[in-house]
Amino acid sequence: MLAKLEEAEKPFNLVRWFAILGGLSIVAITIIASLLLSRFLSRNMVLRDAIVTMGFIQSIAQSENTTRYFQINDIEEEPEAFEDFFHKIATMPEVSRAIIYDREGTVIWSDNPALIRHRFMPNPELELALSGELSVSSGKSGKPQKAEHVFGPNVPFFAEIYIPIWDSSGKEVVGAVEVYKVPLTLLRAIKEGTRLVWIGSVIGSFFLYTTLFWIVGRAGKTILMQQEEKIQAEKLVGIGVMAAGIAHEVNNPLAAMLGKAEMILEEEDSVRIHKYANDIIRFAKKASKIVKEITLYSRPSSRPSTVMKTSINDRLKKAIKLADYTDPLIHIEFVKDLEELLPPVNGSKVELEQVFVNLITNAIQAMKGRGRVMVKSRNEDGFAVVTIQDTGSGIKKEHIKQLFTPFFTTKDPGEGTGLGLNIVHTIVAKYGGSIRVESEEGKGSTFIVKLPLAGNKAK
Ligand code: ADP
Repeated sequence: MLAKLEEAEKPFNLVRWFAILGGLSIVAITIIASLLLSRFLSRNMVLRDAIVTMGFIQSIAQSENTTRYFQINDIEEEPEAFEDFFHKIATMPEVSRAIIYDREGTVIWSDNPALIRHRFMPNPELELALSGELSVSSGKSGKPQKAEHVFGPNVPFFAEIYIPIWDSSGKEVVGAVEVYKVPLTLLRAIKEGTRLVWIGSVIGSFFLYTTLFWIVGRAGKTILMQQEEKIQAEKLVGIGVMAAGIAHEVNNPLAAMLGKAEMILEEEDSVRIHKYANDIIRFAKKASKIVKEITLYSRPSSRPSTVMKTSINDRLKKAIKLADYTDPLIHIEFVKDLEELLPPVNGSKVELEQVFVNLITNAIQAMKGRGRVMVKSRNEDGFAVVTIQDTGSGIKKEHIKQLFTPFFTTKDPGEGTGLGLNIVHTIVAKYGGSIRVESEEGKGSTFIVKLPLAGNKAK
């Protein structure tokens, strides 16, 4: 399986994402819940009011035995009693209009005489009332659903109620009464209820948000602290491993130097003395190289280095030579594919060489002395892109994320300190570049370094 690590990955900011997404969700939930609750409240209050009105009208209808007025022929017989009854309904408190229908839906009385004897069908609400059900709708007079819903500015809210009227036996519907109510007291109660719902929701949500924010903030801090502790613990383990490695690595050249120095003391031949002295210098350089690596790790940016325009291809060629010097490349094939006329990058020659030496040395070590290293350089959109590909062991998927962590090594003590890639990363980042790796276990690895060309401001 091909494993990849993009070095540009940013850590997940728990607190910031909670602040944004949590805040938005809580605001959305508050608004939706408050709207639903206030609608439910106002619908229920209007319905309660309509049921009371229905009870009132039906009881007068029953007590005054007026159901017969709904038979249109009776109008002529008792006009005064008829008029009186319907007038009572139209002048009930908060009623602004009243229309009386017979069982066919024809208007038999209205406070607007122009409507009398007309039949306005289809009217689903009236049909519902004539089938024995109470029908209620309410609205604002500024937003009429029907032409008759237009009221003056003094009517902010109305309820349209269709009430079925039953005969004296209570078995049959004889007609229906439609009343428009302007329930100002009810409206005040609805407004007050709605206000309380909104205040309650906003206070509750604010309390919920601040509590959660506090908990998430604490959790975020705890996670960061634990991560920090883990890194420290890993460093300590690494330092222990490294100390053993350094002791071993430095000890070998020191022992060799001691041996050569003792040999010089007993040697007369000046040619041999010269050779032993050269050996001592070589071993001393090896020991110094190990010490330098550690120094660079501990203070990567304070190391004196001259930043200048430098050719990436020259640094690559030098690094290949240096790697050859450290580890003779008997069975290693080197393939160079360097783009000619690649513009220079800004950086310290020594540091850039160190980047490539580390990557090439790792590649050589991963191939256990046999294989092919391909070194490629390209100019891509203002960046020098260097690819170092090997045919070595490849990297386990679970190791990929740890590669650039200091002291991460899979090598035996004395063979690796686990600092190489961390140093590479520090240097590349210092010059505004990035590094990523692609690897397939058993098939090889590819390290891709991207450095901005000198003069490229878009780093
Ligand atoms: P060191 O080489 O001292 O172990 P590095 O930081 O250079 O430290 O490398 C860390 C680890 O990354 C190595 O121990 C090795 O497991 C892995 N690694 C680095 N480069 C390669 C490569 N080209 N192929 C396979 N594994 C690699």
